[in-house]
Amino acid sequence: MTTSSTTAQATVYGYPRQGPNRELKKAIEGYWKGTVSAAALHATAAELRCTNWRRLAGAGITEVPTGDFSFYDHVLDTTVAVGAIPPRHRAAVDADPLAGYFAMARGTQDVAPLEMTKWFDTNYHYLVPELGPDTVFTANPAKAVGELREARALGHRARPVLLGPLTYLLLAKPAPGVAADFQPITLLDRLLPVYAQLLAELKAAGAEWVQLDEPALVQDRTPAELNSATRIFRELGALTDRPSILVATYFDRAGEALKVLAKAPVEGVGLDFTGPAAANLDDLAAVGGLPGKRLIAGVVDGRNIWINNLEQSLGTLATLLGLAERVDVAASCSLLHVPLDADRERDLDPQISRWLAFARQKTEEITVLARGLREGTDTIAADLAANRADLASRAGSAITRDPAVRARVTATTAADARRDQAYPARAAAQRARLGLPLLPTTTIGSFPQTTELRTARADLRAGRLDQAGYRERMETEVREVITYQEKAGLDVLVHGEPERNDMVQYFAEQLTGYLATQHGWVQSYGTRYVRPPVLAGDISRPTPMTVDWFRYAQDLTDRPVKGLLTGPVTMLAWSFVRDDQPLGDTARQVALALRDEVTDLEAAGAAVIQVDEPALRETLPLRSADRPAYLDWATEAFRLSTSGVRADTQIHTHMCYAEFGAIMTAIDELDADVISLEAARSHMEVAHELAGAGYPREVGPGVWDIHSPRVPSSTEAAALLRAGLAAIPAERLWVNPDCGLKTRGWPETRASIDSLVEAAKLVRAEL
Ligand code: GLN
Ligand code: ZN
Repeated sequence: MTTSSTTAQATVYGYPRQGPNRELKKAIEGYWKGTVSAAALHATAAELRCTNWRRLAGAGITEVPTGDFSFYDHVLDTTVAVGAIPPRHRAAVDADPLAGYFAMARGTQDVAPLEMTKWFDTNYHYLVPELGPDTVFTANPAKAVGELREARALGHRARPVLLGPLTYLLLAKPAPGVAADFQPITLLDRLLPVYAQLLAELKAAGAEWVQLDEPALVQDRTPAELNSATRIFRELGALTDRPSILVATYFDRAGEALKVLAKAPVEGVGLDFTGPAAANLDDLAAVGGLPGKRLIAGVVDGRNIWINNLEQSLGTLATLLGLAERVDVAASCSLLHVPLDADRERDLDPQISRWLAFARQKTEEITVLARGLREGTDTIAADLAANRADLASRAGSAITRDPAVRARVTATTAADARRDQAYPARAAAQRARLGLPLLPTTTIGSFPQTTELRTARADLRAGRLDQAGYRERMETEVREVITYQEKAGLDVLVHGEPERNDMVQYFAEQLTGYLATQHGWVQSYGTRYVRPPVLAGDISRPTPMTVDWFRYAQDLTDRPVKGLLTGPVTMLAWSFVRDDQPLGDTARQVALALRDEVTDLEAAGAAVIQVDEPALRETLPLRSADRPAYLDWATEAFRLSTSGVRADTQIHTHMCYAEFGAIMTAIDELDADVISLEAARSHMEVAHELAGAGYPREVGPGVWDIHSPRVPSSTEAAALLRAGLAAIPAERLWVNPDCGLKTRGWPETRASIDSLVEAAKLVRAEL
């Protein structure tokens, strides 16, 4: 192997694992079904790694990442690498490491999987390590060393990637049976020798550098946690038998951790310079830079799909040159969070596809920037000219600048985002209009998405069914769902959302300014991939999106049917967003489009309209300093979408994915008349939190945990209701499940709704 030049290189932290046609998903699912052998799965994986490395090396990446590949999740891979297998999975892992690995990820008939949760503020989910005072770590370098050897055997210079010890411990939770206040970070002394061994093995296998990913350093950290970071780098740095260490931080600015990193006895530091993380530039200068170190400058946004502003990045890079020994160019984070190749989006307007950069295009941007930095901007003049033209085409396009949308946003006032009357007056008007019993019963929107419904959608896509035939099938479903709900005795009905493929995509497909991709798959978790729609331009609503369905359902019954919409914040959270204007501006445009839908629903007779915001909590910025501004535009966007109605029209919202503590005031700021929340698993905790915060409006804490096929008994649901009543007075308490029912089957749905209605009756009788 030759030694690399010490001037600006192009590098990537990690690459999408899926393969161009999601080959990995297919192979893994085949292995689960028994149609693909373990050997064949390993062969597919090796081939995909080989293709990725060849592509990266071919594009000019001089040091390819290894170990970023995963059969399911890189945090689970770290759990395996440090030997922290939960005792309940031990035997399975020992008997067959591959089968045991998937058992930890997905569970088996008898053994529960690891819990899964969101990876920082991305839409990727990792498997939460379970640690306790009895955890014994042992180094298992097989995967890390194996993939390094594989890349080297193919002739690549390679940099193994490991999740760093600080982030690993901070992402862990106490194992089942361990005291809830156990802090995994207290295991650091035990974990460090295992990392030392992994580093030594990687060095022996030929690694010159190793990348330790420490995204936990971009969150607010306590002084004690920063001390732990200092200790980690001091101890690993002091090892003699190790590769050079690069500590990669990403997803935001490093803040107070920057001092720790600057002083750490490691050879390289990776920092994010995109979006709010651009603050790293001034912060880095303030700590005196990284003298003697290699700086990896994440100037290309690794989480979004837009082309880079190359000239602006070169400006950042030029400033950074004076702040470190050597500056390399990278994306802000692993390219795992973007799709593979924008060139495959043949169905898009060619003008628009030139604005897009997926993993492959981002890799090219990185190599172009590195060349410009190394050899002078003259050598990339053609690239810069093309980039300038593409940026200008985007900025000047009628898609990104719709004068009507802009005029409307400008004319919007703070008063538009406020209901005309305060809640008490609205509540009285709604009570008079709706005439509901105490403890009214309802559901969250969707009813089971049966095979018949999915087949109808597939048939429509494939042309086997025409629009009229599809509509007919959906209407049949709506009729059945309405009749069922009347019989079951629910008070406020829903149409069941059978026509919706997905709660964001359904609206994205109907809003102008939104784009869909053909191949824009990104990993959500394991073998689940999603294709987020793209907020590309100014948003408007050419025609009503849900009104016909509402009208059809409401005509079938005398009871109120809810209008059901997805809120502006969730529309942004589960899409790729614009990077050419503040998020709040995009949210406001979406909110105005939804406002039209809300008022049209009202005009069509809807007395109850629910605007779901399950993602309000998950988009919360990583740094607490950024949260007030976010919550400000987020709650304003919600109110803007819902404030155009009369006092006697009842606005509901819905949120799930628990942990509402951090957004209590924001929930109040939404000013929704009724909020339904996930609560069954936490025994109505959120009702008590809301009551404690003085929440004045109506609340429906879920009494049925819909994440499990388990049917709650009426006694159990009634007990939860009474727990709810201890916090919220009967005049303001609703009875509903935790979330929509689309993932449930009909038998458990029927039985559970019977319990829920029965529980409401039981508890009403006690009032
Ligand atoms: N209305 C949606 C449904 O019932 C809400 C889904 C969600 O909160 N994730 O399916
Ligand atoms: Zn929900």
